Amino acid sequence: MKHRILLWLALPAVVLVAALFWTGRNNEDPEPVEAPELVPEQMSLRTNMSALAATPDWSKLQDYQYTMPRDIFMTQLNAVYSQDRAWHSVINVHEDFADVRGSGNERIRVYFAGRDRQKPPPRYWRSARELPSAPDLFGKPLSGLRIAVDPGHIGGEWSRMEERWYRGTGGHEVKEGELTLATAILLKKQLESLGAKVWLLRNKTQPVTKLRPPDFEPLARQVLKSRGKDPVGNDLHRASQSLFYRAHEIRRRAQVINTRIKPDITLCLHLNAESWGNPEKPTMVSRNHFHLLINGTYSARELRLEDNRFHLLKRLFQRTHDEELALNRSIAKAMAEETGLPPYIYTTNNAKLVDTENPYIYARNLLANRVYHCPVVFLEPYVMNNPEVYKRISMGDYAGKSKIAGAMRKSLIREYADGVTEGLRNYYQQARGNNG
Ligand SMILES: [Zn+2]
Repeated sequence: MKHRILLWLALPAVVLVAALFWTGRNNEDPEPVEAPELVPEQMSLRTNMSALAATPDWSKLQDYQYTMPRDIFMTQLNAVYSQDRAWHSVINVHEDFADVRGSGNERIRVYFAGRDRQKPPPRYWRSARELPSAPDLFGKPLSGLRIAVDPGHIGGEWSRMEERWYRGTGGHEVKEGELTLATAILLKKQLESLGAKVWLLRNKTQPVTKLRPPDFEPLARQVLKSRGKDPVGNDLHRASQSLFYRAHEIRRRAQVINTRIKPDITLCLHLNAESWGNPEKPTMVSRNHFHLLINGTYSARELRLEDNRFHLLKRLFQRTHDEELALNRSIAKAMAEETGLPPYIYTTNNAKLVDTENPYIYARNLLANRVYHCPVVFLEPYVMNNPEVYKRISMGDYAGKSKIAGAMRKSLIREYADGVTEGLRNYYQQARGNNG
């Protein structure tokens, strides 16, 4: 009798396991991994780690032994990843290996690839040349490509908190998180029609994380105390909000990208703005521009934090930059043609041009282009508080063209989506055309 009960108890479990195994084998999608969003140590202030960062697993660097030639390691460190000589404080380069600073003062030795010893670096994403050949290169140049689209910010009721909201003359409310979402939805459709598999990080104006600002209050208190401030009132309120939407929301998106979607590329959609002051009475500016941000230009101060060093090395060893730059070049060209916008010019030392031929692409160390472990295209077109951009935003989406400041123009979000689509189409058509 007892055995029979056990059998009945065990049977559903067996069926469930079999079903998981079966669907796991037949479904192209990875099984959803419901990892917890945070472990307790991430909710405490650590001097050697960015707020809320997951503790790096330094043993992962062993995967990159003998994968990287010394000259590429040196060139990319200097030209892309490091602000001036910042890397010298955490990496010692020798003839055959590099000693990198891991946790605390621990040094980890990674050997360079030699002529006779070279293997490809492990990574979840595939470069254009690693994709299977596209049977219909003209109709479906993106076939088999996995794309994550990250509509920047949250929008809706959250946009005031995010400081990505203003009300223009005539009363139209501009919310970056809604413009990026509208663009993402159009873009998804267009990229799918070219054969890609596309995931939106969000499809509504709600956060990806299940946590909310009050969940971050204990950590916010520690942060404020460490800065010599009283952890009360509005300071506490703002610090908790900031940990929620500026830090954890992006880390949560990274977790979904890196463990669940595992895309070949991620597109981070944003719109730029110049300081508008009071959102109820915004300052409007005549400037309008566009730029793209690839990962790089880590400062010595940033490299002192363990998680930053880890992400830099993971991107460097995975050869992420080569694919990221090529992809960004193609999108810069198509977006410049589509929008007619001039490049934004940085005057601060936290960003540098990586390509003398291309005035649109800057290397800058952002959370989103650092913790997403695949090639990222981070777009910053349009100045939202430029009067013409405001007019176009307030006109909403429409088919065809409409007269704006004497010229026939597409709706702003269609122009944006078309520019990105063209850039991807050109890039993959060309790269995969050479694959055979
Ligand atoms: Zn933005």
